[in-house]
Amino acid sequence: MAKVFFIDVTNRDGVQTARLSLSKLQKTMINIYLNEFGVFQSEFGFPTTSHETNYLRANLELARKGVLKPIRLSGWIRATTEDVEKTFEMVPEIQYLNISISTSDQMIQGKFKGRKSRVDVLEQMVDAVKVAKKLGCKSIGVNAEDASRTSITFLIDFAREAKEAGASRFRYCDTLGFDDPFTIYETIGKVAAEAAIPVEIHCHGDLGMAVANSIAGAKATIDAGQDAYINTTVNGIGERAGNADLLSCVLALTKSSGFAGKYELGRKVTLNKAYKLAKYASFAFGVPIPISQPGVGDNAFAHASGIHADGVLKDPENYELYNYAELGRGEPELVETGRMICSGEYSGISGFSHLMGKMEVSFANASEARKILELVRYANVEAQTPLTEEELQFIAKYPDITKKLLTLTPLE
Ligand SMILES: [Zn+2]
Repeated sequence: MAKVFFIDVTNRDGVQTARLSLSKLQKTMINIYLNEFGVFQSEFGFPTTSHETNYLRANLELARKGVLKPIRLSGWIRATTEDVEKTFEMVPEIQYLNISISTSDQMIQGKFKGRKSRVDVLEQMVDAVKVAKKLGCKSIGVNAEDASRTSITFLIDFAREAKEAGASRFRYCDTLGFDDPFTIYETIGKVAAEAAIPVEIHCHGDLGMAVANSIAGAKATIDAGQDAYINTTVNGIGERAGNADLLSCVLALTKSSGFAGKYELGRKVTLNKAYKLAKYASFAFGVPIPISQPGVGDNAFAHASGIHADGVLKDPENYELYNYAELGRGEPELVETGRMICSGEYSGISGFSHLMGKMEVSFANASEARKILELVRYANVEAQTPLTEEELQFIAKYPDITKKLLTLTPLE
């Protein structure tokens, strides 16, 4: 039976959200946590954007060191031969790519303004796939932007030609969240069957159906005998009303009446890392987790009314579909209410030594400690928020990688 995989796009779609951003160190931590959680692939950034170069190359180095393993790191670019060539000039080590082009008549006419036809779109995509293959790309996903407003016959042609040119997967982008679970099941089922290609399902929440649509799209793909790759973001952070939430999709696939026990995941998920991942993304983006968020919201396991509280105390399964401990919840959190020493861009050696000593991180000598402090200061300049313990530990453990992450040289 075909399998379901997760491709998380927090570090691509998530960070291109209006008014939200992550520092390069925060993006790196997200990749580490996604790997721990069991995500198959992280779409980790934009290889043709110059301020991403050092971050992307540093993360690929972490992959070679085995720190980011087995997760795949994939870049997102436009489907043009120029962008593919630029990608391999700027990030020569990259192995996985998703290339994107608009396929709906609305966007072909509305964006290209008569300069491109459907035939041109196909040609441009095929040329880009071929160049990416030639330059050594191991796996290419081809994205049909605005697929849900694209004619089904054109989508099938597009997916077929992508496969013939050497693409491994077709990404169905419900860019505007226009689909419902019934329409997406039907459309994706047809494309997966006719083009015989694994499908990535990329959904947005403009009508509140991103998770439901992702699950329906995955079912359609599996029913057509192809592997399904659900695109998610942590906490559903994404453009406008957001993307499909990673944890909600995992819970839907593993706990819902129609899916539990019936579908196989391509990579085992470590569910008890879910809470940590959600809390970190919330902290790094500066966006609180909604109180009613599935699994990780403050109220996800809270009961007040008489009948519910009595029922859950007698047997949690009366009113809880799954246990909080499964998601890594239940540990008390310590919040400092007295004196606090935290990292900052103007930190000094005394406060820094205190902070690192508390975590039992020691340094070979004073100059080593000063070097790490300097990196911590720069990391604070980028993040504009005190660093977490795990970020500080990362910097102390991988100072050379951190230096690359923090190196930004504009207009070079
Ligand atoms: Zn998107």
